[in-house]
Amino acid sequence: MATRSGRHFLQIPGPTNVPERVLRAIGQATIDHRGPEFGKLGREVLDGLRRIFMTSGPVVIFPSSGTGAWEAALVNTLSPGDSVLMFDIGHFANLWRDVAVRFGLTVEFVPGDWRSGVAPEAVEARLREDRGHAIKAVAVVHNETSTGVTSRVPAIREAIDRAGHPALLLVDTVSSLACIEYRHDAWGADVTLSGSQKGLMLPPGLGFNAVSAKALAASRTAKLPRSYFDWQAMLRDNATGYFPYTPATNLLYGLREAIAMILEQGLENVFARHARHAEATRRAVKAWGLELVGRNPEELSSSLTAVMMPDGHDADVLRKVILERFDMSLGTGLGRLKGKVFRIGHLGDFNDLSLIGTLGGVELGLGLAGVPHRKGGVLAAMEHLAATSSPAVAGA
Ligand SMILES: *Cc1c(COP(=O)(O)O)cnc(C)c1O
Repeated sequence: MATRSGRHFLQIPGPTNVPERVLRAIGQATIDHRGPEFGKLGREVLDGLRRIFMTSGPVVIFPSSGTGAWEAALVNTLSPGDSVLMFDIGHFANLWRDVAVRFGLTVEFVPGDWRSGVAPEAVEARLREDRGHAIKAVAVVHNETSTGVTSRVPAIREAIDRAGHPALLLVDTVSSLACIEYRHDAWGADVTLSGSQKGLMLPPGLGFNAVSAKALAASRTAKLPRSYFDWQAMLRDNATGYFPYTPATNLLYGLREAIAMILEQGLENVFARHARHAEATRRAVKAWGLELVGRNPEELSSSLTAVMMPDGHDADVLRKVILERFDMSLGTGLGRLKGKVFRIGHLGDFNDLSLIGTLGGVELGLGLAGVPHRKGGVLAAMEHLAATSSPAVAGA
């Protein structure tokens, strides 16, 4: 393979670019996970994650991708045949539904257009009808990574409360944690699940469950089979910073470093940075004359921007041109959006010039691939960045 100069632009919406500080931390020698030093590392990452999820309760870490965290959220809280209310808002919502179905849960899948988030009114209406409380959980994808649409979790929580329904609220924050405001305790989530490879700026390989007191109580009577993903043994050993089986030690070094970086910047600043880059990206898309997948301005994602291709043009041809000419990976269209949509990831370890480079690659690619568009997207993004610029180094 030919040697390339410069760095690959990994602008898919996860896995994201891993900062040098995190790579170096991961490169430390592996230690005995049952030895005297390990407990301190374990306690540090478990405490740090609480601050990221904004919870005073436990956060469980699995050596898994996000899919494992989905499974863990279901098997620890539910029993065979239980009803779960889910929403067909995109590809990830479908994959999570499939996990629930495979475990013998009864999924009520509310149809959606893959351009909008979960409608709080629909949650309230369905739960009000369920007078017998057959529905045991409402499961929501906070940031649907296939469409770039972010559902309004606080409004969904209010809808559940207005209906006076006791269902658990399970939330997938794999592509929103440490990118888009999310508050596990304040927003009344019961299980918030996430993964390492997106906003947390780590390689893939860790899955997380933040667990409320109500979810923990449900886990004591839940009857779905579970072993590897059982919270109980984890929580018992985590009390001293240890794990019931071999943890992904080197990823935990990286996690400690990534949490330190996020908290040094401040979570509010991290959210503001993602929102600003997302707005600049949308201005570029508008200037190109292309259409966003997301329909509702109040639901547009700060982690990624999903863009519709003009009719008759294949998004994967554009992505191939951009990869071959400019060494940049963009997100493909998933599921029914295959070929119709490309996705620009602007999450994780990212700054103004990474965004200008990314959008420059897209604009060059649109031209080379013969996709009808207007020039000036990069300029529109730069104008927004200039108008909202602040010191790149916190405290500078
Ligand atoms: C990336 C992602 C996942 C997890 O997928 P894995 O490939 O199992 O890590 C789950 N949900 C959402 C919304 C995601 O973006």
